[in-house]
Amino acid sequence: MTSRTGPRIDLHAHSTASDGTLSPAELVRAAADAGLDVVAITDHDTAAGWAPAVAALPPGLRLVRGAELSCRWFGADPPVPLHLLAYLFDPAHPELVAELARVRAAREARGERIVDLLRADGVDISWSEILTAAGGGTVGRPHIAQALIRAGLVASTSEAFGPDWLGERYRLPKEDIDVFHAVRLVRAAGGVPVFAHPRATRRGRVVPDELIVELAAAGLAGLEADHEDHSPEERQHVRALAADLGLLVTGSSDFHGTHKTVRLGAFTTHPEAYERIVAEASGVTGIASG
Ligand code: AMP
Ligand code: FE
Ligand code: FE
Ligand code: ZN
Repeated sequence: MTSRTGPRIDLHAHSTASDGTLSPAELVRAAADAGLDVVAITDHDTAAGWAPAVAALPPGLRLVRGAELSCRWFGADPPVPLHLLAYLFDPAHPELVAELARVRAAREARGERIVDLLRADGVDISWSEILTAAGGGTVGRPHIAQALIRAGLVASTSEAFGPDWLGERYRLPKEDIDVFHAVRLVRAAGGVPVFAHPRATRRGRVVPDELIVELAAAGLAGLEADHEDHSPEERQHVRALAADLGLLVTGSSDFHGTHKTVRLGAFTTHPEAYERIVAEASGVTGIASG
């Protein structure tokens, strides 16, 4: 069975619980409309979208409950930020709950400091307006990008992420989770950790293969290979590395609504990899199904 003729599985999508533009309910409806059979909700550092997504599941659609954890590898100077997808973990695991709350609070502090830097340079945007627009979801630079667009300073999210703005000049680090700690914590919570877009050089620095070898030994389950931020060569490299290390491979859209141009289902995951994730998980019982 190939992923073209079999079920269509997209294991990475964001809602308004973080920096996507569709609510969790709208996200699952859009996933069904896009012809998906399985979709994962993976908001940054939160499980807040799970319940409304489950409640709105259209008939026939299966939902993988997940999150995308903001992590950092401290083996380089300066440390390298990276994203860890975590599937089907126990959302009540006390240490994980505390870490996610800490990271979300640190994101707010950092967002406010970025806005302070912009305001010191005469950019008239307000932190309280940005917080209101985020609507209680995990705050990220895309929310600041929207404020820059509303103020008429940039024309698009991608321009806001350019070097003159949030990509470099007004970029501040977040207080992320040590990636080894995150992998162990996700496993301790019964979840399945997958390294998101591990070779996305167009996003900035990436980690060496040697780190991925160490993460695999620490409990990493898989690598996201098919992603719009990977070139064909990068996808191939990730696949080969996964094969060497016995890791599963995923493909996903990383859908963010209108904050990005990619569509749901633009990249998909082979059913065998999906089934392996479900089989390895013990954090939440069963896959929610509409
Ligand atoms: P943050 O988590 O606050 O550091 O912001 C990172 C988020 O910004 C990512 O999860 C993406 O959703 C978004 N992002 C990063 N780079 C770009 C880009 N070049 N264009 C649009 N969105 C981006
Ligand atoms: Fe995002
Ligand atoms: Fe990511
Ligand atoms: Zn993402």
